Amino acid sequence: STPTPEGHDRYGYTRRHTEPVSSTGGTQVPVVCHDMTGRPLTTAGLFGLGHRYRPELDKWAADDAACDFIFIGDRTCDFALPGWLSAIQDGATWVKHGGHTERHHPLWTSATYEAARAAGKIDPKINFLAIDADELTAERAEELASQQGAPIVLLLSTAQKNVLASLRAAFFRLSKGRCTLPVVIRHDLCGRGAEAVQLKAAADLGGLLLDGFGDGLWIDGDVGIEGGLQALNRTAFGILQATRTRISRTEYISCPSCGRTLFDLQETTAKIRAVTDHLKGIKIGIMGCIVNGPGEMADADYGYVGTGPGKITLYKEKEVVQRNIPETEAVDALIELIRSHGDWVETPDQASASA
Ligand code: SF4
Repeated sequence: STPTPEGHDRYGYTRRHTEPVSSTGGTQVPVVCHDMTGRPLTTAGLFGLGHRYRPELDKWAADDAACDFIFIGDRTCDFALPGWLSAIQDGATWVKHGGHTERHHPLWTSATYEAARAAGKIDPKINFLAIDADELTAERAEELASQQGAPIVLLLSTAQKNVLASLRAAFFRLSKGRCTLPVVIRHDLCGRGAEAVQLKAAADLGGLLLDGFGDGLWIDGDVGIEGGLQALNRTAFGILQATRTRISRTEYISCPSCGRTLFDLQETTAKIRAVTDHLKGIKIGIMGCIVNGPGEMADADYGYVGTGPGKITLYKEKEVVQRNIPETEAVDALIELIRSHGDWVETPDQASASA
């Protein structure tokens, strides 16, 4: 078995150090990539991936879970992509189009990358280099480390049955070889139903992300998978949210409730969710009592804690900001607190009503 590299903590979270390449790696959130080959390459085709084109305004809007890259094989987008989305093309196609198509980047194998590099035809911004875990030997990791500073993002996959172990060992070899190129993990789950994809992807990719490995995810599923690309996209963003590597929607941390609980936890959580669900990337702790609540809500950004019958205390992180508010006013006070810290945004309905 591959030994644990020096400095890797089996029990704590430390993200593998990588040098950023464009929008990937470094301290940036992990990116999400999807394979559009065999699927319609149209503005409507991007809807399920979180990119909504509004023809009446000729503008794009992005959902919280808008993917970052689409793989289009040997095709080229004949419409302008939104500014926050890029396409990945086969290296040969990218070269054929002169490498000038805006926000299109090449995907190479090790052999085609070396040939393109020798011919001076690599992308100065970002080159995806597909590599199998078995191909990524200790020697290859050292070779890749010697290319530090090159605009390469590794696209790591494995054909081994034990995906997590195989990819984790490959990451260890990269760390031992002191290679700091960013890595997008590609997981082929074709031939499985939507639920099986969710379970397998969460177990394998979630485990790696919790180890601090991975600067992006790419989950492959059948073209006809239930829920389509939208289901794969939701799975990818769900894994990133659950591993807290990319928070894209409001997260609720609620205590399980017990004899000390001072309000109807389920009803209150539903009430708070109903008004804050559209916010992006904040954590709200909803705790039944003051005895253990503040400790249990850990790293929440805002806390709603029962302090007496019908009384609520609000927290900003670990600081009490309003004590013993009547429960009937507490949800509005929470909204005001979120607003006062600049984390509040109106829902589209509220925004158009006030326009
Ligand atoms: S926070 Fe208080 S009410 Fe909630 S489970 Fe813990 S002790 Fe019980």
